[in-house]
Amino acid sequence: MHNVSKGTLEVICGSMFSGKSEELIRRIRRAEFAQQHVQVFKHSLDTRKTIEHINAHSGYKYPATAAESAHAIKESLLPETYIIAIDEIQFFDENIVPLCMELIGQKKRVIVAGLDLDFRGLPFGKMPELLSLSDNVTKLKAVCNNCGADAHHTQRLVSGKPADFNDPLIQIGAEDCYQARCRNCFEITYNNYKSTQKNFKFYGI
Ligand SMILES: [Zn+2]
Repeated sequence: MHNVSKGTLEVICGSMFSGKSEELIRRIRRAEFAQQHVQVFKHSLDTRKTIEHINAHSGYKYPATAAESAHAIKESLLPETYIIAIDEIQFFDENIVPLCMELIGQKKRVIVAGLDLDFRGLPFGKMPELLSLSDNVTKLKAVCNNCGADAHHTQRLVSGKPADFNDPLIQIGAEDCYQARCRNCFEITYNNYKSTQKNFKFYGI
């Protein structure tokens, strides 16, 4: 059916509330219309609503297998599967990169979605490598909760205030502790000093 020598890797990235999961579901449904065999995974860490679905904030959902590691995904794959879709890819361990490359070598179409930046405004997990190795990148923007501009940052709030730089990297939540923010409105508390991107030392931005 697919006269190609290798598969492909597509990455859908952006901040929270940018529509990543909706876009992933859209691509899965489109493949299903073409009767291509799809397996969908999400990280078992993300238990916001149900563990068996990808949950988009818009209310869209799609059945998914919850996996705690790249190895668990590999163990679950069926030989007839052509498309492997993985949501919340940033939560997976470092073995997710070689797994994606292995699947591409097996002529599979791999579609992953996830946060490219963490709450500190730094590249998240293995996303930089996946973005570099991908065939196609879709970077989605949310709307800044403060000013309405395009937003690519995920702002974590603790009791309504910007989280501290040294807080734990992973904290599952939704609207109550995360907002989408533009570069100008994104804030992080660093070493007890309230800081904005204007004097944020990492990357000199
Ligand atoms: Zn803004």
